[in-house]
Amino acid sequence: MFKSVLIANRGEIACRIARTAKRLGMRTIAVYSAADVHALHRRVCDESYPIGSAEPRDSYLNVKRLIEAAKIAGAECVHPGYGFLSESGDFAEACVQAGLVFVGPPASAIRAMGLKDRAKALMEKAGVPIVPGYHGERQDAKFLKQQADAIGYPVLLKPAAGGGGRGLRRIDRAADFDAALQGAVREVAAAFGSGRVLIEKYVSAPRHIEIQIFADKDGNTIYLGERDCSLQRRHQKVIEESPAPGMTEKLRQEMGTAAVEAAKAVGYAGAGTVEFVADGTKGLRSDAFWFIEMNTRLQVEHPVTEAITGLDLVEWQFRVAAGEKLPLVQNEVRFDGHAVEARVYAEDPEHGFLPSTGRIVGLEFPADVRVESGVEAGGEVTPFYDPMIAKIITHAPGREAALDRMAGAIDRTLIAGVRSNLAFLGALCRARAFRDGKVDTGYIDRNLATLGAESRGPDYAAAAAGFTHLLARDSNSAAGDDAEPDSPWNARDGFQLGRPRSIEVPLLIDSENADAVVDYDGDGATVTVGGMSPATDANVFDGKDTVFVLRHGRQTRVQVRDVSVAASHGGAGDGVIKAPMHGKVLELFVGKGDAVTAGQRLAVIEAMKMEHTLRAPFAGSVAELVVAAGQQVVEGAQIMLIGRPDAV
Ligand code: ADP
Repeated sequence: MFKSVLIANRGEIACRIARTAKRLGMRTIAVYSAADVHALHRRVCDESYPIGSAEPRDSYLNVKRLIEAAKIAGAECVHPGYGFLSESGDFAEACVQAGLVFVGPPASAIRAMGLKDRAKALMEKAGVPIVPGYHGERQDAKFLKQQADAIGYPVLLKPAAGGGGRGLRRIDRAADFDAALQGAVREVAAAFGSGRVLIEKYVSAPRHIEIQIFADKDGNTIYLGERDCSLQRRHQKVIEESPAPGMTEKLRQEMGTAAVEAAKAVGYAGAGTVEFVADGTKGLRSDAFWFIEMNTRLQVEHPVTEAITGLDLVEWQFRVAAGEKLPLVQNEVRFDGHAVEARVYAEDPEHGFLPSTGRIVGLEFPADVRVESGVEAGGEVTPFYDPMIAKIITHAPGREAALDRMAGAIDRTLIAGVRSNLAFLGALCRARAFRDGKVDTGYIDRNLATLGAESRGPDYAAAAAGFTHLLARDSNSAAGDDAEPDSPWNARDGFQLGRPRSIEVPLLIDSENADAVVDYDGDGATVTVGGMSPATDANVFDGKDTVFVLRHGRQTRVQVRDVSVAASHGGAGDGVIKAPMHGKVLELFVGKGDAVTAGQRLAVIEAMKMEHTLRAPFAGSVAELVVAAGQQVVEGAQIMLIGRPDAV
C-alpha cells in the first residue's frame, strides 16, 4: 500500500478520502486555495500546500501547481476525488509522467468516455444498449433537424463535451427545433469549448439508474449494484438510493453485465459508474434501459453503495491503484438493506435555489447517521465552489425505514447562518409519490410548490419563538448594571406597577419588517408576531444580534430592527463601508475625496444574482476607496471609508 497521498480536491470529498487514507496508514497531503486557508480539509490532513487563488482554474484546476505540490511533498499517489480534475485525461497523464500514481483509470479510458457522442459509438459497438438518436460528426442545422424528425419528438439535445446537466435541452415539437439548436450551440460552445451536440430520443418518465463498477489492473471487473438517482432538479441529483424501487435480481444482473461490458470496452481500472436512463412508464424492464454516459471516477453518491455492501470504495480505489487484485469476485458481493443519501446545499429553495453564501454560524448533525461534511460551524460558503454543506446517509433494513430515518435526521439537523435546502429535502422524503417509488427525473420540477420550493411569507410563529428567546436572554442580562432605561426588556416593570400593559418591538424577520407585540399581565409576558404565538416545534440558535429559528429545516432570522440597521451597514458608526456578502462590485458612484450626503448611493454589489446598494451612513467624504468596479469581494471586506467632516 502507498505511504502517502496528495488529495487534489477540497471539501467533504477531500475529508472523506483522507479518512480512509489515514486508516490505511498513509501520510495525507492537502492542497488549498486562497479561499480555503481555514478550510476543514486542510486541517484533517497531515500536511497542506497552497496552490493558488480562489478561482478554480488558478488552483484546484491547475495541473502544474498540483504536480509541483505533490513533488515537494513527496507524495506517492494522487487522488482526484470528484469534480475538478477527476475526469481530465491530461491530469491523469501528467501524474504518471511525474512518477506519481493516479488513483483512477488510465488516461486512455477517461478520454474514451469523455465525449458523449464518441462514448455512445463505442458502447454501440460493444453491444451495450444506447438511447436511440444521432451521435455523428455532421453538425449542420438542416441535417440535425432531419435526424430529430426521424427520431421523433420529444428529443433531447446534449452537448457532446458536456457534464453536470448543463446545456441539455428538451425539444417537444419540430417547429421549436431550429431555435433550440441555435440557443444550445451558443450556450454549449461558451461553456465547454465545443458546440458539438448529439440528439437523443427523450425517454418518457425517465428514471436515472446507475451501476457502480470496479475493475483491477488485470481487467477483473465486477458491479456493486445500482443507485437510483431519479430525484433530480434540472438534471442534478438531489437524493439517491439503493436498491432502486422495483429492481429485480435478474434485471440487476442484466444492467450490471452491460455496465461491466462498457468498462471492459475501454480498458477500465478503478471505480467507475455507468449511467443508464430507464423508461419508467411501466416499471423497470429488461428492454427499457439505455446507456447515457460513464463517469470515470468516484461519485458523490458512492456512500449509498458503501452502506448496502459494507465496503469502503475509497479503500478499493487505493488497492487497485497499488496494483492489488479486486478484494471480491462477483458472487461474493452481498447487499444488505436499503440506503438513502440526501445532498444538503447552502441554497434557498424559496428563491429559485440561489446559492446562499456566507458564514455558517451554527451547524449540528444528528450523531446516529453517517454525515460527510467539509465545513464546520464558523466556516464559510464562498461563491467560488459548489455550495454543498454535507451529505446525510441513512441505512435501514427496508426502504420505508431508511426514508423515515432520513426525514428524522433532516429535522434534527441545524444549519444557521446560510440558508439551506433542509426543509425541501424533508418534504421530499415525506412526499407520497417518492414513498411509493413512483418518481421520474421531472418529479421535482413539476412539484416545486408542494415541496415548499416557492416564495413564502415570513414564518411568524418561528419569529415569535425567536423573539421570545431574545426577550428572555436580554431581560436577564438587562437586569444587570448597564440596562438602558428605555429598553423594551425592562418593560416587565409594567406589571410591577400592577397595570396590564402592551408594547410593540420593531423586528426584522429575514428582510421583512414586523412588530412583536408583548402583552404583560399579572402572570408575565405573552409574545405574538403577526398575530401568531411562538412555535413550540422550533429550534432556536442564538447568533447574538440575530437569532436563527429552525423549524422543520426552514430558517427564519430574527433581529430587533434598530440593531439591524447598524449591523447591515457594517458598523456604520465608524464610516467603514463593507461588503454585505460575497459578490462583485458592479458600480462605484463616488471617487476618493468626493463629498457625500447621508444616505447617498456609494456602490452597487451584485451577490446571489441580486443587487445591493451601499449608502453613506452620514454626511462626510470618501477618505479611502479600496476596490475597483468589476472586482470580486468577500463578505465583510472593506469597500471604502467615509470620513466625518470634522475628522478630515
Ligand atoms: P450530464 O453529463 O450533463 O449530467 P447526462 O447525459 O448524464 O448529462 O444526463 C443528465 C440527466 O438527464 C440524466 O440523469 C437523466 O435523468 C436525464 N437524461 C439523459 N438522457 C436522457 C434521455 N435521452 N431521455 C430522458 N432523460 C434523459
